[in-house]
Amino acid sequence: MSTGTIVKVSGPLVVAEGMRDANMFDVVRVSDKNLIGEIIEMHGDRASVQVYEETSGLGPGETVVSTGRPMSVELGPGLISTIYDGIQRPLEKLYAACGANIQKGVQVSSLDREKKWLFKPTVKVGDKVTGGDIIGVVQETAVVECRIMLPPKLNGIIKVIKEGEFTVEEEVCIVTNEKGVDVTVPMMQKWPVRKERPYKKKESPDSLLVTGQRVMDTFFPVTKGGVAAIPGPFGSGKTVTQHQIAKWANADIVVYIGCGERGNEMTDVLLEFPELIDPRTGESLMQRTVLIANTSDMPVAAREASIYTGITIAEYFRDMGYSVALMADSTSRWAEALREMSGRLEEMPGEEGYPAYLGSRLAQFYERAGRVQCLGDNDTREGTLTAIGAVSPPGGDTSEPVSQATLRIVKVFWGLDASLAYKRHFPAINWLTSYSLYQEKIDTWADKNVDENFSEQRTTAMRLLQTEAELQEIVQLVGVDSLSHADRLILEVTRSIREDFLHQNSFHEVDTYTSLHKQYRMLNLILKFYEEGGEAIKKGVSIVKLTKMHVIEKIGRAKYLPEDKVDSAFDEIERNIVSEIKDLIKREADEL
Ligand code: ADP
Ligand code: MG
Repeated sequence: MSTGTIVKVSGPLVVAEGMRDANMFDVVRVSDKNLIGEIIEMHGDRASVQVYEETSGLGPGETVVSTGRPMSVELGPGLISTIYDGIQRPLEKLYAACGANIQKGVQVSSLDREKKWLFKPTVKVGDKVTGGDIIGVVQETAVVECRIMLPPKLNGIIKVIKEGEFTVEEEVCIVTNEKGVDVTVPMMQKWPVRKERPYKKKESPDSLLVTGQRVMDTFFPVTKGGVAAIPGPFGSGKTVTQHQIAKWANADIVVYIGCGERGNEMTDVLLEFPELIDPRTGESLMQRTVLIANTSDMPVAAREASIYTGITIAEYFRDMGYSVALMADSTSRWAEALREMSGRLEEMPGEEGYPAYLGSRLAQFYERAGRVQCLGDNDTREGTLTAIGAVSPPGGDTSEPVSQATLRIVKVFWGLDASLAYKRHFPAINWLTSYSLYQEKIDTWADKNVDENFSEQRTTAMRLLQTEAELQEIVQLVGVDSLSHADRLILEVTRSIREDFLHQNSFHEVDTYTSLHKQYRMLNLILKFYEEGGEAIKKGVSIVKLTKMHVIEKIGRAKYLPEDKVDSAFDEIERNIVSEIKDLIKREADEL
């Protein structure tokens, strides 16, 4: 262990001398208050330490002691439904230990040391095992089975395997390793947060992360294992969108990192999630969720650490063979923490004061997402980690460094638009500027898994929306009357695509989530109207008569129809479209 002496304190940064034996990224304890910090720079015997707790009152002369270990998280049963701070301290325990004013240097373990979990082995004595192999399971919550894995580097033969109730630290297994040494294996593992957890092989993501949000699933899909960003100005819906994904996405596990945003947004999550019922399991959504809360009023350095804490926990569940969705709100606040630390280290500032390594740090984070073949030889598991980051550029201007760096990395861009939000078109995702580079993959997937016409229909709808943008320019110049009836039909159809399909109210009981089948049928209905309407116009029916049809209101209300009524109700609306238009055509013919 290396002990040094503080020579300088600058906000969350402490510089200590006499630390020659310490290493980069070692966790240290600062002063007799025992504040937790991490070495982020070494020059000879001088260590720069970012301190994860309030440094007020700290001064030169006090000690810094290295623990000789890197910043790590504890992984094992008990993570799910816990709310952690940026360095994996369970908030509930912190509050219990010291009330609302969290004292400095409080030591609480990340995983409960007392609680006993029922461990059921899945291997037997004599089995040959390798790192990553599942040796047993624990029913962690009603919906999540925690699969206890051998630590990545351990190989050997099972000498002892237990069954029964154990704490996370107690031995459940003994493995005789390749050197003939007996290694005790408890349920808990530790892993350094800044290091990616190993896997066998990365594969390219190929299936849809179903979010139930129509504009995303149908038009700008993200894959299980994909990377996406939600940039947008204040109030445009970044947080609501991330909450929606956290609530409804068909992931097995959700890791939600509240990073530097206001505390009340986190409170929303804390109050709302336990109440919400997961449509797939009938259980509370917290039963599959891990929350990391590092709100704007918490120490800035811990914010820098929070996304690593979050993604390491996410990787752990990925390694069990689960699909994990990770949300970070907001990566801009994380980047600001990085900038602040960089400034205090007196590094050469890059664009807008951000360090030159901003882009590479962001890339390192997003690169930890993906679809992988998990480590281990006693089964073949595939795990996915989808990473979705909110970006909050000042003034909504995405030409700033964090947005630009992010856009170079992510494959899905859900661009939130202030003007759409202002018009209360939510989700305010701009359908003309957003994109998904997974589109082709998901076309194949959706045509096979939802409807064979899914991608064709989506393409038609998007083409109409693009045509609408062109027609609108003409309308602004010379007025709507200058357009042909066929073009005016397009405007009516795209109004419906926007208002009835793209617009989705997160706070409406039914509208908050739409299955892929219903998404398909909704768009199908609108395009049916387009098709039949087009025929009518060819036969001389005026656009005004078409837009006055009763069925238009029914199409508009279709989104509120509950999932179990979709097929019967939609069939009926479709019949209405056909018969109403038939009537119009007939009357038109009669008048002639
Ligand atoms: P941001 O995080 O970008 O600052 P929020 O996510 O907090 O913005 O959204 C601001 C407000 O916009 C919300 O309080 C809500 O009223 C509205 N809003 C955003 N998205 C939706 C949505 N999908 N449905 C309904 N209202 C929404
Ligand atoms: Mg927000």
